[in-house]
Amino acid sequence: MDERRKPLIAGNWKMNLDLAGATALAREVLQRCGRVRTADVCVLPPSPLIQAVGKVLEGSVVGFGGQDLSPEDEGAYTGDVSAKMLLSLGCQYVCIGHSERREYHLETDESVRAKTGRALDSGLIPIVCVGERLAERDSGDTFHRVERQVMVGLGGLSPEAMARVVAAYEPVWAIGTGRTATPAQAEEVHEYIRKLLAGMFGEVIANRTRILYGGSVKPGNARELLGQKDVDGALVGGASLSAESFAGIVECAG
Ligand code: PEP
Repeated sequence: MDERRKPLIAGNWKMNLDLAGATALAREVLQRCGRVRTADVCVLPPSPLIQAVGKVLEGSVVGFGGQDLSPEDEGAYTGDVSAKMLLSLGCQYVCIGHSERREYHLETDESVRAKTGRALDSGLIPIVCVGERLAERDSGDTFHRVERQVMVGLGGLSPEAMARVVAAYEPVWAIGTGRTATPAQAEEVHEYIRKLLAGMFGEVIANRTRILYGGSVKPGNARELLGQKDVDGALVGGASLSAESFAGIVECAG
């Protein structure tokens, strides 16, 4: 990994936990990761639980954020969450274009672009997810798929705006399946994404952009994945629901 890129380990809690469970997990994460300086650490609780988690993590090195946001400022968008709401709860981060949002909520590269713009305009750090499905990998379409997601999802941003984006490569076939990309498979796509970013925004921005890997990351495989040249952290789903395993992954980023 480039010396100028501080790793980021982000825990995506998805639609898990309740108020008591989320607060307890946040306390334990704080206890285990509250003194970490070698990596940035954040958790992404479900929207209704962000405020309580934020109260636990407030003022600490463990950041927090949302799992999605609306591209709109405010208005008649039932069920959606605005950037303003996330900011008012103290969020620093927001995940955008997760494969589960793409699959179950029909999000497109175009909506990812709109949401990324909204996050950046409002001062949130977007963690923008890309990644191919199993059929796309099997048919040799991985690079093509990822290229479109990057070119459209991040297209038209200014280099200054892009400097604040975190990208996440998450092969869909590795999410929640226990099947991880090998470090070499991850690195080859990360390197490709960085090359795409260099073409779009220039080498300096590309070399500064953190590209996280996501897909069944655990303490047992994190060190090797995070040791790849272009892997700058992890987006962790299942393993982030245990403070012990999340902290174990954070340790590997040191
Ligand atoms: C994710 O939700 O982004 C993810 C990578 O999940 P898991 O770690 O469970 O595969």
